[in-house]
Amino acid sequence: MTSQNPSTATRAGEPAVSVQSLGSGSSGNAFLIHAGGTSLLLDCGVGIRTVTRALRERDLRLDQLDAVLVTHEHSDHIRSLSYVIGKEIPIVSTAGTRRRANIPPPQWEQISPGRPLAFGAITVWAIMVSHDAAEPCGYLIDTGGARMSVFTDLGSWHERLVDPIRASDLIVLESNHDHDMLWRGPYPAHLKRRVASPVGHLSNADCASSLAAALRGASNQPEIWLAHLSETNNDPAVARRETVHALESEDIVLDVTPLPRRSLGPVWTSTVSRNAPAWRPAPVLSDPTQLALDALL
Ligand SMILES: [Zn+2]
Ligand SMILES: [Zn+2]
Repeated sequence: MTSQNPSTATRAGEPAVSVQSLGSGSSGNAFLIHAGGTSLLLDCGVGIRTVTRALRERDLRLDQLDAVLVTHEHSDHIRSLSYVIGKEIPIVSTAGTRRRANIPPPQWEQISPGRPLAFGAITVWAIMVSHDAAEPCGYLIDTGGARMSVFTDLGSWHERLVDPIRASDLIVLESNHDHDMLWRGPYPAHLKRRVASPVGHLSNADCASSLAAALRGASNQPEIWLAHLSETNNDPAVARRETVHALESEDIVLDVTPLPRRSLGPVWTSTVSRNAPAWRPAPVLSDPTQLALDALL
């Protein structure tokens, strides 16, 4: 698994899977994901020219996307969704996100926990997160080989995230703010409380400790991307150090990369192939809703 320039990653000798962040933070979020000829956009919160430029580097047009996945309706995740609406591209979200983001029903594909959707080579699972939006979720993306999980915009960790995190070869997890920088910083008190609340954004400390605990004893070597860093209340070096130290305390050494806020991030590529069965969520005993859904399947 390597990070490299997009032009070398996607043309001659195209890798089985490639993932790139097109921007990460309150100014806009999107990931471009390719696997086995299938192309997905996960969130559509960066400028449309950034999206089309990244697609063009891979000889693709916007209308060649196989689907757009949306995590929640906040503008930094859907800013350019209007350019997708009206095209023959499925827009995937939970029912609550569809309502708030005004996704037209004919174009909408509902996703809910325990009920995956498949687009070509890729199967996507929604995993609910705690955030001040209607029905926010993160995603596990299973290409049949490499897997990635994306959890940004969550105010608190939940046990249901452990299973997808441990199953992933690329983990994208929010590391939004340094606790002291937030509370000493310039935000008004109500905004500080909102960011730090259980439905706000994950701090560096919570990201680091939760990730280290989730990966305790794991045998794989995932790459870690830290996402949605605050420009005002964080420092990429501080965020990275906190996660690296927490992982080291569990004797885990992994590549940890804070994603750039306003520019393209590295390209992650993988040729991982798995003989194991497709990923399925393990029942979470403390989550009666998930248990009920699992029982229906
Ligand atoms: Zn956001
Ligand atoms: Zn949000």
